[in-house]
Amino acid sequence: LLDRLKDKALFKTQSFINGAWVEGKPWIEVTSPSNRAVLAQMSDVGAKGAEDAIAAAAEAFKTWKTTSVFERAALVKKWHDLIIEHADDLGHLITAEMGKPFPEARGEVVYGAGFVDWSAEEAKRSHGETIQTPFPGSRGWTIHQPIGVVACITPWNFPSAMITRKCAPALAAGCTVVVKPAPETPLSALALAELAKRAGIPDGVFNVITGDAPAIGDVFTQSDTVRMVGFTGSTPVGKLLMKQASSTVKRVALELGGNAPFLIMDDADIEKAADGVIASKFRASGQTCVSANRIIAHAPIADKLIAALKTRIEAIKVGDGLTEGVTVGPLIHDEAVARVDKLVENARERGAVIHTGGKSLAEELGGSFYAPTLIEGGTDFELELACFEIFGPVCAVYRVETEDEMIELANSTPFGLAAYLYTRDVGRVHRISEALDFGMIGVNAPMVGSPATPFGGVKESGIGREGGKWGVEEFTELKFVLLSGV
Ligand code: ADP
Repeated sequence: LLDRLKDKALFKTQSFINGAWVEGKPWIEVTSPSNRAVLAQMSDVGAKGAEDAIAAAAEAFKTWKTTSVFERAALVKKWHDLIIEHADDLGHLITAEMGKPFPEARGEVVYGAGFVDWSAEEAKRSHGETIQTPFPGSRGWTIHQPIGVVACITPWNFPSAMITRKCAPALAAGCTVVVKPAPETPLSALALAELAKRAGIPDGVFNVITGDAPAIGDVFTQSDTVRMVGFTGSTPVGKLLMKQASSTVKRVALELGGNAPFLIMDDADIEKAADGVIASKFRASGQTCVSANRIIAHAPIADKLIAALKTRIEAIKVGDGLTEGVTVGPLIHDEAVARVDKLVENARERGAVIHTGGKSLAEELGGSFYAPTLIEGGTDFELELACFEIFGPVCAVYRVETEDEMIELANSTPFGLAAYLYTRDVGRVHRISEALDFGMIGVNAPMVGSPATPFGGVKESGIGREGGKWGVEEFTELKFVLLSGV
């Protein structure tokens, strides 16, 4: 890995607290999911590290919050520029520790940097309002103020973008931040810390710590100083953090699991819909919370769709993310392969048709690989594949007779993050997108996230929005001021 980095100083294994690199007690090794090579030996700064980082962030907040937003924006913008300048190296770190193919990894870096640039701009537009009051001789107005110290816990599927998407708006809004990245992918997070330091972001304003998740999570959620916890990850951990955060009534922003339906109507362009399914399903080997989980095909076009998907899926090249032409890398680890295999076995047992794939490639390819798979589930929405987030390269197609049933089945899940709809009927576009209980709807579009738009879910998929003006607002408190005796 080091050989591939142009700037070797981006390879960090210590935690970054108050502008200094801090060693903890020996902890886990980071390994490549493509070939199981050991990439780094990490250390655990534990509860003490979390407390130190929070104390540093609290001290830094005193001055950071009063710094002009123009000054903060300039530093955040500098961070963006450095991220773009080092996009190749950051991409290599992602490919090494998470496995996604290098072009996709580099794409994640650029996508994530987009939030940094956007936040630097958007924070300048954090305007208050003047309000009519019922009291004679009085005036009222609102101001947005940074909420305070923010603690973030991030996942491994987007090791870079999930950090920038939370931290850049927080920093630009005037908050200080402590991040705990996923143990599988700490290197991307620490490289971002190094670049933040080079950008001139003051000591204590941005901290990244590695170590035992429950111990650090406890400190984050129980601390009186931390005013907000931002989390992206699984729904069970999100629920736990929400419960823990209730002891101090912190704000929580939770981006949790999904179970995205992908509705394809009989009037859709089937070739474009099949391209859309592939783009949504196989990005990050299907390990994203917005991945198409249930392809719900209108019965008249189901056979044509399945044929179009089969051709595309059989053409996918699986392998190490550095190999030219590979578009699907490994899953994050062997347990993930075993979990996906169990879901597929359940489908096989229940009589679903496996058109292609349906097996682990771990032995054949020497890493945690799973074959791109196409399964026809018919009308069986009781398949585990339909009830749980697959988080793997398995495309499961169902066939349903009517529009109303399609909507009802799409909504019959506790999750509500992203949904997709392919149709060319403008009435259906409005009718169905309004009827789907999801936070984001891609109509003839397989990807919905961008720096300018709100990303987030309803129901058990989470609370709060990242991106756009909403992403910055999340990190502010709205204060009302009443002046009388004018
Ligand atoms: P996954 O199963 O995909 O790894 P998780 O929700 O377990 O998803 O992980 C997302 C993030 O949450 C990671 O940074 C992980 O270390 C962290 N995490 C896991 N368990 C806890 C916990 N009990 N308290 C705080 N953070 C946790």
